[in-house]
Amino acid sequence: MNAEIIAVGSELLTPYRIDTNSLYLTAQLNQLGIRVLHKAVVGDAPDEMSSSFRHALDRAELVVSSGGLGPTDDDRTRQTVAELLGRKLRTNDEILAGIRERFRRYGRAMPEINARQALVPDGAIVLPNPRGSAPGLWLETNGRIVVLLPGPPNELEGMFEEQVQPRLAKLGQREHLYTRDLRISGLPESEVEQRVRPLYSVYPDIDTTILAAPGGIQLHPRIWSEDARIAEKLLDEIVQRMALALGEHLYSTQGESLEEVVGRVLTENRATIAVAESCTGGMLAERLTNISGSSVYFLGGVVCYSNNLKAAFVDVPPEIIETKGAVSSEVALALADGIRRRTGATVGVGITGIAGPGGGTPEKPVGTVHIGIADERGPRARGFHFLGDRDRIRLQATQTALDMVRRYFLFPSHGRA
Ligand code: ATP
Repeated sequence: MNAEIIAVGSELLTPYRIDTNSLYLTAQLNQLGIRVLHKAVVGDAPDEMSSSFRHALDRAELVVSSGGLGPTDDDRTRQTVAELLGRKLRTNDEILAGIRERFRRYGRAMPEINARQALVPDGAIVLPNPRGSAPGLWLETNGRIVVLLPGPPNELEGMFEEQVQPRLAKLGQREHLYTRDLRISGLPESEVEQRVRPLYSVYPDIDTTILAAPGGIQLHPRIWSEDARIAEKLLDEIVQRMALALGEHLYSTQGESLEEVVGRVLTENRATIAVAESCTGGMLAERLTNISGSSVYFLGGVVCYSNNLKAAFVDVPPEIIETKGAVSSEVALALADGIRRRTGATVGVGITGIAGPGGGTPEKPVGTVHIGIADERGPRARGFHFLGDRDRIRLQATQTALDMVRRYFLFPSHGRA
């Protein structure tokens, strides 16, 4: 079965609101074995909305919409779809009583405009909404299904799970979607593509999406199949071959974040970590502590932004800062070594850099970042030049630092930093 999703709401056509309901709906529909072939975002104008629904019904067997079921004048989904399908709207007394009761519970009289939420097109199944006043609707027309859901995500999600999912599951799709989520660091998108592309023709039934996220690349091989065993086997095979092609750059085949992987690696090695951050302002510590159970391996960290605090907190010699500058590999080394000595951690990490947009010089442009890693054998550091705005540079700095820690444990004998 093929589906189209229509997100209704003029606010979704402004720069201030984004349609997230369709992401949730796509994931849910895919799980049921239903492919989403088109998505649309449309405002409240009846003509536009009508044309969206008409096109969707031409193309898809299932049309799911969100929004526009409220009581106000700009909530027109119910009426527009009823007109398009040539269905009369009639007041459903039970729904009306339910809405009145809802208002009574909150100690208020129901405004008359809410009565329009009790209008039901002929032949529609009403989908109750215990979380809000707008019920959803399920309509069938010429072998097609139209489902109208409310806009607020908690109402839409609850209604989908309780009312829509069981009805769609009964239709029993033969094919289902099977996927994997590979995470890669340290290679640009084009290089990842070049390494795995030869596999595409070996596995023509697998459709692989490549996704460039800040600080890494993701590969999502996907296959629609009637046979779970065959699908899983093919995915296992392609993942294994992708792993060979990507080598140590592949850090997860299960969609884990780098901080999760680093947490696992530190735990497996019974190692601890501490960090001294300048330009990332605590982001590395924040990411490490996002993982539950991180107290096993994360000892703590300091944000030493000023030169004085670099010396006071982690013993960076002031003369190094004077001669080499605060953003230098020497300071990254001293930060990493200093925090390790102060805390007794197995591994110390130091980050110093220029996140911008100001503060760059021709020798040290914005995006210059030095990252140090220290163990009991001493520190190592690498310099980078990241591109992008302040947020991106800081994120890439933490991503790279985490990756350096991961690789350090991957090659314990020679791969320090
Ligand atoms: P009600 O008016 O009774 O709340 P409704 O079905 O009319 O329900 P809308 O008025 O269209 O819903 O949207 C209500 C709110 O739900 C919006 O302000 C927005 O915050 C959220 N919302 C609507 N559509 C979406 C969407 N596609 N993705 C994420 N949030 C949405």
